[in-house]
Amino acid sequence: MAATAIPIEMLPSIDPATGKVLAHIGRTPPEMVGRTVVLARAAQKEWAKVPVRERCRRLRKLRECLMASRNELADAVVGESGKPRVEAVFADIFVALDSAEYWSKKAPAALRRERVPHHSSAAKAKSGHLVYEPLGVIGIISSWNYPLAIPMSQIIPAVAAGNAVVSKPSDFTPRCGELIERLFRSAGFPQDLVAVVQGGGEVGQALVESGPDKVLFTGSVGTGRQVAEACAKKLIPTVLELGGKDAMIVLADADLETASSAAVWGSYTNCGQACLSVERLFVEEAVSQRFAELCVQKTKKLHLGPGSDPATDVGPLIRPQHVRRMSDVIEDAVARGARVLCGGNPRPDLGPNFFEPTVVTDVDSSMNLFQEETFGPILAMQTVKGAEEAIRHANDSPFALAASVWTKDAKKGQSIAERIRAGAVMVNDAISCFAIAEAPHGGSGASGWGRTHGRAGILEMAQTKYIDVDRLPRKEKPWWYRYGRELEQAADAFLRFEFSGGISAKLSNVRAGLKTFFRDHGW
Ligand code: NDP
Repeated sequence: MAATAIPIEMLPSIDPATGKVLAHIGRTPPEMVGRTVVLARAAQKEWAKVPVRERCRRLRKLRECLMASRNELADAVVGESGKPRVEAVFADIFVALDSAEYWSKKAPAALRRERVPHHSSAAKAKSGHLVYEPLGVIGIISSWNYPLAIPMSQIIPAVAAGNAVVSKPSDFTPRCGELIERLFRSAGFPQDLVAVVQGGGEVGQALVESGPDKVLFTGSVGTGRQVAEACAKKLIPTVLELGGKDAMIVLADADLETASSAAVWGSYTNCGQACLSVERLFVEEAVSQRFAELCVQKTKKLHLGPGSDPATDVGPLIRPQHVRRMSDVIEDAVARGARVLCGGNPRPDLGPNFFEPTVVTDVDSSMNLFQEETFGPILAMQTVKGAEEAIRHANDSPFALAASVWTKDAKKGQSIAERIRAGAVMVNDAISCFAIAEAPHGGSGASGWGRTHGRAGILEMAQTKYIDVDRLPRKEKPWWYRYGRELEQAADAFLRFEFSGGISAKLSNVRAGLKTFFRDHGW
């Protein structure tokens, strides 16, 4: 790796399959980030005046630009993240395209003003509604693992809602960041409305320091905590999309062929480097041995190699320290009684970052493999007596991002899903909820807070304003000055009218209660 020879103002774009530098991308000096936010703020002021339907027209243009450059984008994603091209297409390009398509159609409805019906007699003379206004400049700080899908599916609703965006991609994926900025420019978005600042954590810190109106952060728990603290000091609201430790519960009546294919794919896709990876498998004991055999058979058929090779199923990890981590968690699990059924080794013969897809059984919560986010190609499994035990284990984690339940009984699957602590639970599928534009994405606990995607996601990027028009403009409100004994009694009658419950209590207090509304203020 030629990293030491790189001039300080450039960022290397490194291929994880070989460790070779593919390109150099300009680094943004941290002291320039504030200026970028100022320019974005100026651009946003004009953008907010553009009707939402016109914003949607630009999103359709963006979709066209995405489609036209999909091969170049896929090359960049494969080159910098190492994933197989098929995964770049399904998980990055598709998600970006679908987000542009979805919000170009649905943003007007999601942001439409809403009537607020009033339940209280005290507010009956009012007409209320909600409007959703842009926040201003949104800072989007992202991880490297889905270098197109994650930032694009956040930037698109942000601009649809009338905001500007300053995006800080991971310094592992600067080429993808560069292409994102170019896409918005090619699609005719105003200059400075979507800006990308390039660099490491210091650039992310500078972005927070420059005072955006909201920060959407995707990354690890440790960095998320730092970002949340820095934002809290400046009272900047945040959405935190942090790690996951997703459970997959396989019940005895599941279709084992399908469920084992899902377990294998869910554990190894993106080389296991997905926040929604299947990280903890709980399999009912009646089928656990057969299930493990199927997982081993299927794992052994997978081809480990560079993402650029069409025959590759599983690509490399992102950097050598991630390879060492895989060996460490496996060593810890084996020392505590787990069994490695296949894989378990680094493959330096293939390149610096390859690790074999690995099946481990007899894992339990005493092991790091079930405690910490693995973020690598390890299928880790525990046998359980039944659904109750599986639910208990699934909920025994500080993370609460997503989970899946596998059963032929949809009703049972749904009722188990309702008992799992997670932002999303899929029955007979895993991970794909991230690519469903309508589905809100996010978790709780160590997985963060707030939502991206879906209506809940776009509303994170808007200020909810309540507008109230009084229909009796010439009438003083009963609760205004001047006070006195008579008003005290009338107020009490009003409470009895409003809250005493039965109809007879209402009727007996209606006259006295109404007196509050029609009293003479005695000015
Ligand atoms: P990191 O936390 O290392 O980095 C995330 C981003 O934060 C990067 O752009 C990083 O810059 C930046 N950053 C680092 N320090 C600071 C700082 N002090 N202030 C502001 N920004 C900073 O995460 P990874 O990139 O390694 O991503 C992997 C993690 O992301 C996993 O835990 C994974 O689960 C999680 N993730 C969560 C998702 C979700 O939706 N819940 C989706 C995808 C990933 P740089 O790296 O360039 O130094």
